[in-house]
Amino acid sequence: MAKKSHKFKTEVQQLLDLVIHSLYSKKEIFLRELVSNASDAIDRLQFEALTNKKLHAEEAELKIKLIVDEEAKTLTISDNGIGMTAEEVKTNIGTIANSGTRRFLEELKTSKNSDNPEFIGQFGVGFYASFMVADKVTVKTKRADSDEPAVIWTSTGSGSYTLDETEKETHGTDVILHLHEDMDNYLQEYELRRIVKEYSDYISYPVVMDVTRTEKAEEEGGEDVTTIEEEILNTMKAIWKKTPSDVSEEEYNEFYKHVSHDYSEPLKVIHYKAEGVTEFQSLMYIPGVRPMDLFMPDAKRGLHLYVKNVLINESCEDLLPSYLRFIKGVVDSSDLPLNVSREILQDDVNIKRIGKSLTSRVLKELDKIKTKDFDTYLKFFEQFGTVIKEGVHTDFENYDKLKDLLLFASSKSESDRPILLKEYVERMPESQKEIYYLTAESLTQAKQSPHLEIFHSKDFEVLFLVDPIDEWVMQRLTEYDGKTLKAIDRKDVDIHSDEEKEEQKTAIDEATKKYDDLLKVIKENLNEEIKEVTLSSRLTDSASCLVADDMGMNANMERIMKAMNQDVPPVQRILELNPEHPVMPKMLSLLESKENEQLKDYTELLYDQALLTEGSTIKDPRRFSQLVSKLMVGA
Ligand code: ADP
Repeated sequence: MAKKSHKFKTEVQQLLDLVIHSLYSKKEIFLRELVSNASDAIDRLQFEALTNKKLHAEEAELKIKLIVDEEAKTLTISDNGIGMTAEEVKTNIGTIANSGTRRFLEELKTSKNSDNPEFIGQFGVGFYASFMVADKVTVKTKRADSDEPAVIWTSTGSGSYTLDETEKETHGTDVILHLHEDMDNYLQEYELRRIVKEYSDYISYPVVMDVTRTEKAEEEGGEDVTTIEEEILNTMKAIWKKTPSDVSEEEYNEFYKHVSHDYSEPLKVIHYKAEGVTEFQSLMYIPGVRPMDLFMPDAKRGLHLYVKNVLINESCEDLLPSYLRFIKGVVDSSDLPLNVSREILQDDVNIKRIGKSLTSRVLKELDKIKTKDFDTYLKFFEQFGTVIKEGVHTDFENYDKLKDLLLFASSKSESDRPILLKEYVERMPESQKEIYYLTAESLTQAKQSPHLEIFHSKDFEVLFLVDPIDEWVMQRLTEYDGKTLKAIDRKDVDIHSDEEKEEQKTAIDEATKKYDDLLKVIKENLNEEIKEVTLSSRLTDSASCLVADDMGMNANMERIMKAMNQDVPPVQRILELNPEHPVMPKMLSLLESKENEQLKDYTELLYDQALLTEGSTIKDPRRFSQLVSKLMVGA
């Protein structure tokens, strides 16, 4: 391979420009990023060694070494991990793999905060952070157990990099930073010590450096003795193995960044050790913000799984159910075999036991936050409520706990203060027997629904379900605390007492007699659009509304299906009219005076009004507007 120059991908250059123009307030984090990469590379080597005897035969101590060259003004971060082939260098150090960084770039496009120095600090820029402190970066790397030659990668961070073959005896990677003039402090022992301690103390391999010590000669005139010794700068104690009281908040937060690639602070740390049939240690985090890829099917998810200190699986999906995929962290168990394959993992009883424990722990923690710090819980639910709802539908075992974690907007609550089902039930008036809800596209739409009128007049609260997933959740969530959950836009909603019902039946029967012919003509005029026309006592102000029958699709479900490009069979709903509305006698008089054309117009308007108030689209907006204009001029 001859030395060749390559161009960076556009997004990489975009990121590099940002990094070089130094929006980071703390440049020292470059070391955290490089040490973290080195540690990952050793993890990978150890993992491959489980099945590759050749790698196992090598006895070299696995470590990360910081090498300072004061004359050349270089700082080298050297590891004896897995290393990279030329191809791997091209794909790994020329693209942006990390979802946190991709999110950062996405947000940058849309954010007005892009020139805010704190902003970039929330994201990890990985290897590229090197360019915050170096004018030039050289990477020398050799892949373990590979016949391919070692490669040398060099770049000044502006547009391109070069790649060439080189000599390197041992496998692993050296990242050589040619420091900027004013970055001399990163050549100093105390500074490097401090940074490693602050950001990388938990790294499970030794981070070492040669330390020079000079002992004064004992006798006057004698020679000072200078020794150089390799010293370990980090404690290496895996943070999850420590007792929680020995871990500071900063340490937890730093480790969170390492495992999650999310550079904001976690919302909650869950750290515990399980003893009993299956023993394990676990350190889990509830993130504060929803990752961009939460709903992407191919996103990397799951916890890091360690067995006897070896990282077996970076994203073990079998430990937590899919709806808890936002949880980040580590599980370490010595009760698992070292060379566990994915297939074995899935069926392993210990994994199942651990998973069960982790799930109930997370749910317990969420319940605790909800009870003790509702404001924080609100923030959590805003970010992750939708996935918790997935759980209601899919996790039968924890269904009862999950129901109690749900929050919904309601007709009696401010929109920024959704309520729990428990709260709803507690404030139900005695005469109310069921829990009422309305699914809609938005809160505004829900609040305007004519279906609410009778509930307002009865002072019954109605939950507003405006997340598309809610329709699906409600198929499962049919009951809470012994009370049925009822959609208020269905025909069978029955909120009246027996006495009231009796009264209303008489009134409706009478009105039906009076309007019977009119109802028939309305049905004829609307023909296939509706299933039937009835009078009801559901409305107090509006003239008309549409309801789904017991089995039929409601308006919201129809919209969701259409939005998903699903074939929606023609849906016929029931048009309910308010017999007390002044438009009714007016229409009756049109019928009696045989003004058929005008009656037809009125019918259309009545139907379109019902569609508009429920948030559906009307078939022919132009015609609707013509009819309204006609009415306005009294034609
Ligand atoms: P991230 O570590 O978040 O994936 P980076 O930009 O820091 O992103 O690194 C990109 C990729 O380059 C890594 O995923 C890894 O495959 C490779 N890499 C970086 N540093 C090393 C290293 N010291 N040894 C081996 N591979 C490395």
